[in-house]
Amino acid sequence: MTDHDTARERMVARQIRARGIRSPAVLRAMETVPRHLFVAPGMEEFAYEDGPLSIGEGQTISQPYIVALMIDAAELSPGSRVLEVGAGSGYAAAVASRIAATVFAIERHESLASAAAERLHRLGYDNVTVRAGDGTKGWEEPAPFDAILVAAGGEDIPAPLKAQLAPGGRLVLPVGSASGVQALRKITRTGQDSFEEESLGAVRFVPLVSDPPPEDGTRSASDLRPGRSRNRSPVQLVAESAEALPDIDDPAFGAMFERFADARVVLLGEASHGTSEFYRARAAITKHLIEKHGFTIIAAEADWPDAAAVDRYVRHKEKTDAPAPFQRFPTWMWRNTDIAALTGWLRSYNADREEEGRAGFYGLDLYSMNASIGAVLDYLDEVDPQAAAVARERYGCLTPYQNEPAAYGRAVLTEDYEACEEEVIRQCRELLEARLADGGGEGLFDAAQNARLVASAERYYRIMYHGGAESWNLRDTHMAETLEQLLEAKGPGAKAVVWAHNSHIGDARHTEMGAVRHEVNLGQLCRERIGDCALIGFGTHAGTVAAASDWDGDMEVKRVRPSLEGSVERLCHDAGEAGAGPAFLLDLREGRNEAMRRVLLSERIERFIGVIYRPETERLSHYADVSLARQFDAYAFFDETEAVTPLGPDHAAGGVPDTYPFGL
Ligand code: SAH
Repeated sequence: MTDHDTARERMVARQIRARGIRSPAVLRAMETVPRHLFVAPGMEEFAYEDGPLSIGEGQTISQPYIVALMIDAAELSPGSRVLEVGAGSGYAAAVASRIAATVFAIERHESLASAAAERLHRLGYDNVTVRAGDGTKGWEEPAPFDAILVAAGGEDIPAPLKAQLAPGGRLVLPVGSASGVQALRKITRTGQDSFEEESLGAVRFVPLVSDPPPEDGTRSASDLRPGRSRNRSPVQLVAESAEALPDIDDPAFGAMFERFADARVVLLGEASHGTSEFYRARAAITKHLIEKHGFTIIAAEADWPDAAAVDRYVRHKEKTDAPAPFQRFPTWMWRNTDIAALTGWLRSYNADREEEGRAGFYGLDLYSMNASIGAVLDYLDEVDPQAAAVARERYGCLTPYQNEPAAYGRAVLTEDYEACEEEVIRQCRELLEARLADGGGEGLFDAAQNARLVASAERYYRIMYHGGAESWNLRDTHMAETLEQLLEAKGPGAKAVVWAHNSHIGDARHTEMGAVRHEVNLGQLCRERIGDCALIGFGTHAGTVAAASDWDGDMEVKRVRPSLEGSVERLCHDAGEAGAGPAFLLDLREGRNEAMRRVLLSERIERFIGVIYRPETERLSHYADVSLARQFDAYAFFDETEAVTPLGPDHAAGGVPDTYPFGL
């Protein structure tokens, strides 16, 4: 027995049978089909985990349990004729074909359809026929069907599918918002015009789309026909257009970003929350924009009250009695020597300036997010350690760059977890009220705004507790709104620099986040709402990074693995060796370096390290599909990078100095 066979048996026992699927035929079919031969190369080791996986074109192979649930509900028998809409990898069709007589499968993406057809043929699934096309219209010729399975979610039930059901036939499909959670429905044809419906619970699928996919090839590598650019390789094309970056401490470094100074908002990303080069580079760019171009707002992916304490320091305001900022996990993100150097610089820059000319430091994040999460975990650790473990996993949902299979398996929520909700929300509410009373929201937020904040916080805490795309969307929408309020409060002509992770800044529509998980983000919202903005991403090939292994865990200095084959980072690393050097800028805006831009329009994987880094499962946990040239307007690359240095322990209290930033 191979490792894959063992893993598959375990998958069927733990994910399928344990969740209540009892049909011997379904269990046997799930035990037979080698799912690892249906996933992308390099992903085989994750094939039997409890979640969907990317298969390219922004699509996914469904979670094994969902495949079993749908096939079970469709009540296939040895004589059944089956239609599947959304063939994707061909996996679900293969499973169905082990029970039914014939399976017809339609896939919207030509490339996926031909790969699935080839794979099924190669593996000997001769009773499956795949074609490319729009499955919402069904498939006239082989109709009627005893069962129809739809693997993508839409708002309506396509009428042709109901019409193509044989008498007594079953249609199983997700119905609901294409951008969120859907209800899995089973519709049984009971007569010529009569149907019965039942609901099988909440699920999340990629959207059911009836238009043909775009033909500009932006999400496929096939637009890179050799010969287009006189046969130069992608590596050469990137190397030729890369602009070498001077040393970060050289004033010429900031000047390299001069070209973006006309934008109202310049958003600076990072590929981890613990890499010194990203902090130092952003500080250099920020100083340049403040000194030479009148930017007065630094808006960071940080809690408002904590950032407000830093702001009081840099703008020479009175220190308050509020607790020292950034004392909660992840402390190193804003308590490190690079940020301390920047706040010191800001304080002296502001010293001899009038109030309007001073640059301030503000937090965009949902009010007290980290403190709230910490409070939830403390409480659950005390009353229900098992629920605390679930919560720790769920907070992975707030970091999209960390694929957590559990985040999709909503069914695993325990009753106790549900029971804790009220108490957790009460505690969060109290914490928020206490912090507002501390004066954390002084200045920009008046009483009315505070009330609004409390109202939206309640909703946020509830969504956060249950995890998922909604909490991410609420968080990034809140960030965008806070940014707009800051710009408005500072008056016309105000300009802002934003510091946040690449996952917040790179336009989500052009990454797996948006395409597969329907998440929006700050960069996308800035493009849509403000327009006049520049999105700048950062990346690295290898080195070290400050990160934890789990939410709330200790900071460790971890080695960053060399970037994977097929990634944006590996392409940049190779371009570096081909002459671009160890640090460079790629200007990705339209009309500048078209040959390079074409290379970077096509889909590649990109690495996202957050406050958590798990090198052991790196491909699954930290890489996602992107189109770099659409995600960002520019990309700064540092081949080898180092971890940030957290501020040293305070001699009195242990841990970080609690006088920060005033004590520095
Ligand atoms: N059953 C597949 C799951 C694929 S995900 C598997 O096991 O791998 C759903 C698929 O539905 C995607 O590949 C998507 O491209 C496809 N899809 C979306 N809308 C479609 C439509 N109108 N017609 C056909 N396929 C569609």
